[in-house]
Amino acid sequence: MTLEFRSVIDKMTATPDRPKRNAPTPIRLSQNELPWGPPELVLNAMIEALQTVNRYPDYHRTAARAAVADAAGVPAEWVAVDNGSGSLLHGLARLVIEPGKNAVYGWPSFEAYPASVSLAGGTPSPTDLNAEGAMDLAALRASIDESTRLVHVCNPNNPTGGFIGIDELRDFMDSVPENILVVLDEAYREFVTAESASETIALVREFGNLAIVRTLSKSFGLAGVRAGYVIAQEPIALGLRRSSVGFALNSVAEAAIIAAFSPAGLAIAEARVGEIVAERERFLAALRTAGVSHLPTQSNFVFIHGDVADLTRSFEARGVMSRPFPHAGGVRITIGAPAENDAALAVFG
Ligand code: PMP
Repeated sequence: MTLEFRSVIDKMTATPDRPKRNAPTPIRLSQNELPWGPPELVLNAMIEALQTVNRYPDYHRTAARAAVADAAGVPAEWVAVDNGSGSLLHGLARLVIEPGKNAVYGWPSFEAYPASVSLAGGTPSPTDLNAEGAMDLAALRASIDESTRLVHVCNPNNPTGGFIGIDELRDFMDSVPENILVVLDEAYREFVTAESASETIALVREFGNLAIVRTLSKSFGLAGVRAGYVIAQEPIALGLRRSSVGFALNSVAEAAIIAAFSPAGLAIAEARVGEIVAERERFLAALRTAGVSHLPTQSNFVFIHGDVADLTRSFEARGVMSRPFPHAGGVRITIGAPAENDAALAVFG
């Protein structure tokens, strides 16, 4: 007799873009990370926390939630923190999805949306993006049906970088039935220059069916720590906390969150984001000069159109790891440190 798995497990794929062992260290522009190690203040907080790892972390994550809540200007009851926003996306799907129910989302986008919905027993229901690589909110609205329990809005969208402003989002929220959970994934929100990052928090006050998901993996440069958070009204935040895996947020990550959200930590993150945004603008200007077809971006990456195999090989020849998206007709490249970006831009002469 062979072991019997749920059939959905066979459909799950792993992302195959890790550097090969023993290969020369590549310029890693494939995972939308920051190029710099943690700021000293965050590092010191993590070292301090290491001294008591014989003890379990705080089950309720109280101090980390308070740090996030203070910075966002919301009550701590409106915050859930966990080991990465990927875990929170799975937790949100678990709250509302069950067999016979579907989730609507734009595609191509983050792989965790279909994965979390399928694993929860529901049906993923993708729609196309708009021509700028942002969510097509009208298309999302139109594909909501009586079995829809969840909508994912990735803004800016990964891997395309397209962005939707607050007024359109508010109109969309007004049009979505209140029994449907809208997950606004803002993993890259801090890189947006079209609007302030705090803008959408107001929507959480207005709509009890909205959950904003953010992460410390991108603008805070802490991808390896595994920390993310949700801001939503109390029933959603509480539902997440009640259904999360106990102790999944380790005490080192909790210390990192508290330090990252201190006034000094936030100031460092803001300065670093400023450097990346300046490099993004330089990168985009160089692409325009070279006549390279690409999508507009409000994020820390840019989507370049072209022959995916050719582009990937050309970057590789310069030691640059990019992320191919064959089905979307292009390659995503992260904006890194100036010398890393120069290496990537060398592909275009
Ligand atoms: N959302 C989006 C749109 C992402 O691109 C990512 C990571 N690539 C995540 C969520 C998950 O990030 P993490 O689990 O590191 O917080």
